[in-house]
Amino acid sequence: MSNLALPPVAGQPRGRYNQRLGPEQEKRMAIERTLSIVKPDATRRNLTGAINDRFERRGLRIIAQKRIQLSPAQAGAFYEVHTGRPFYQSLITFMSSGPIIVQVLEGEDAVTLNREIIGATDPAKATAGTIRSDFAESIEANSVHGSDSSENAAQEIAFFFSAIEICP
Ligand code: ATP
Ligand code: MG
Repeated sequence: MSNLALPPVAGQPRGRYNQRLGPEQEKRMAIERTLSIVKPDATRRNLTGAINDRFERRGLRIIAQKRIQLSPAQAGAFYEVHTGRPFYQSLITFMSSGPIIVQVLEGEDAVTLNREIIGATDPAKATAGTIRSDFAESIEANSVHGSDSSENAAQEIAFFFSAIEICP
C-alpha cells in the first residue's frame, strides 16, 4: 500500500486508509468500495472540490469519477427502491435538474465511513461537521448520496461505471 498520505489536519483524525500498517495488519483490513454522488444542489454551488476534500482527508480514495446529467428516466431507475414514496417524483425532478458527479470511493470500511462523513439524510438532524450539516439545503437537496450497504454499493457502481473506468 502506498504511504503517500495527505498530511494530518489539526483536529481531524488521520485517514484510516492512509495509516502506516504492518503486513499482517494490512491483510486484515476490509477495503471496500462505495458509490457517491455529488447532487445537483452542490454542483450548482461549485462545492465539488470542497466535498471531495472531506472524503480525501478521511482517507477515502476517489478511484473513479465523472460529471453527468441524468434524464428523469435514469434518475427514476437509480432510485427505483423509493418508488411509491411521497417524495419519489420530486426526488427524480431534483436529481435530473442539473449536473451530478458520480464517483467510486475506496478505503477501509468505505460504506460506513462515507455515511459517517456525509451525515443524516435531514441536514437539521445531521451531526455538526458532516457534509450534509455544513452544505445541504434541505432533506431533498442534501448535497450527496452514499450507498447504504456493500451489496447496494456494488449494484450502484455497476449502474454508472464499467470496469475500465475504475482505476484504483
Ligand atoms: P441517499 O440514498 O441519497 O444517500 P439516504 O440514504 O440518506 O440518502 P434515503 O432514505 O435513501 O436517504 O432517500 C434518498 C434521497 O431521497 C435522500 O437523500 C433525499 O435526497 C431524498 N429524501 C429522503 N427522504 C425525503 C423526504 N422525507 N422528503 C424529501 N426528500 C427525501
Ligand atoms: Mg439511501
